[in-house]
Amino acid sequence: MRIEQLGDGEPEIAVVGGIHGDEPCGVRAVEHLIDTQPDVKRPVKCIVANEEALDQGTRYVDDDLNRVFPGDPDSASHERRLASRLLAELRGCRVLSMHSTQSYANPFAVVADDGLAVAESICPYLTLDAVIDAGAFTEGRLVSYAEVVEVECGYQGSEEAAANAVAICQEFLAAVGALPGGEPRTSDVPLYRLQHLIPKGPASGYEVFVTNFERVAAGEAYAAAGDETLIAEKPFYPVLMSPYGYEDEFGYAAELAGKLGGEPTRPDPEQRPSGATES
Ligand SMILES: [Zn+2]
Repeated sequence: MRIEQLGDGEPEIAVVGGIHGDEPCGVRAVEHLIDTQPDVKRPVKCIVANEEALDQGTRYVDDDLNRVFPGDPDSASHERRLASRLLAELRGCRVLSMHSTQSYANPFAVVADDGLAVAESICPYLTLDAVIDAGAFTEGRLVSYAEVVEVECGYQGSEEAAANAVAICQEFLAAVGALPGGEPRTSDVPLYRLQHLIPKGPASGYEVFVTNFERVAAGEAYAAAGDETLIAEKPFYPVLMSPYGYEDEFGYAAELAGKLGGEPTRPDPEQRPSGATES
């Protein structure tokens, strides 16, 4: 783990890249800060998290780092030890953690459901297409253990994702008062809440027919696994959905929960028929 500091004093702000070793955008943004040494008004901790996985060009070495928090300092697993060290570094900090995906080109944020206050104070300053409340899907993830806004900056390995990460980093540092500037935007960013995983069975190949964040109607074909076409039983909003982004699932089905900081959207009557519950 590489840790550098901008400014003097004990940092209450941190930016993290490289939680996943095959997502270089956040690393580029952190290195850009270290290289350019902006004149910060508050000290900032700059962290490149999983250097071993980055060196190998893999998501992780032993375990997915963003599934094993709070970690264990005595574990045989590299990522479990690293999770424990990283959490210790982030204690008392407001954190931006940058990721990338195979599912969507523009930045969107992921926050824990009890982290919406952090999201509401920071996300209006960021150029985002959406904010995702991870709902029940926070086990082992950094969002459960730190005051963090995770941002998916774009397609894994793309120059656009790296440029987005640099821009998001600047906006975050303005939002927390470390850099000048920064205007909160009018709160028109849609808030989605994850409802369930969309599983992916073994097959010769996969396809996704729908666009993330665009409503899928009941009866619509949304994906294929080999020769099998998958049809939506109920409407949903696809999030983090891609043919090959994850091993065992296409992504998530979400509900539209409203606008960040705005009034909640009334439940989609088709999406949640009375008596049915999902988690
Ligand atoms: Zn990631």
